[in-house]
Amino acid sequence: MFHHQPKRISPTFAFRTRAQVVQMSFLDWPLEQHRAPQRNDARRKRVADEVIERFSKAFPGVTYRLLWNSRIINAQAWRLGEARNVYLYGGLVRHRKITVAGLALTLAHETGHHLGGKPRDPVMTWMTWQGQADYWAASIGMPSVFGSHARALTVRGAKQIGAVQREFAAAHDEHGIELPPAIRWAIYHAGLRHQGLPSSAQLEFKRQVAALSR
Ligand SMILES: [Zn+2]
Repeated sequence: MFHHQPKRISPTFAFRTRAQVVQMSFLDWPLEQHRAPQRNDARRKRVADEVIERFSKAFPGVTYRLLWNSRIINAQAWRLGEARNVYLYGGLVRHRKITVAGLALTLAHETGHHLGGKPRDPVMTWMTWQGQADYWAASIGMPSVFGSHARALTVRGAKQIGAVQREFAAAHDEHGIELPPAIRWAIYHAGLRHQGLPSSAQLEFKRQVAALSR
């Protein structure tokens, strides 16, 4: 969901073992503070399980898994051979700014990395680019799972994800290949209207490709 990756990663990384893929992606990812178990933890876990079940039914070619005990505030799409996987980490599920809407849009985004088509990520070329994954999430992923409720959930989820991302941005100074929240917001809205990737996103994609070739 949040890509705080170093600028140069070997493209072969995605094809190494599962443990290495996960470890690599932990770089710069924010962690939940150590905390005592909260009263609403059980409810949050149940909500996450329910959202995962909905996505599993809608996209049977993708395997979704909740890593409840992880403190990572993120989610991840990864592939091993042809197997398509999505991990949802407990730190994001327990984040106070995230509700069912944010979790749903997160899973739609990760699914979009697998099924969103082009443009592909300039570094990890097996997966759909971050901005296109957002676009696919709003235009196809969410409606496929939530039907007429998708629009409201997408808008609410986008606000939650933007709030969490801004929180990280305040804590982390480095700029990886993350999309600025304003551009993500524009992409979600264009996706809801099926207008294609907005020009701000297209420019950002070109900027990222150019930055990698320097
Ligand atoms: Zn992503």
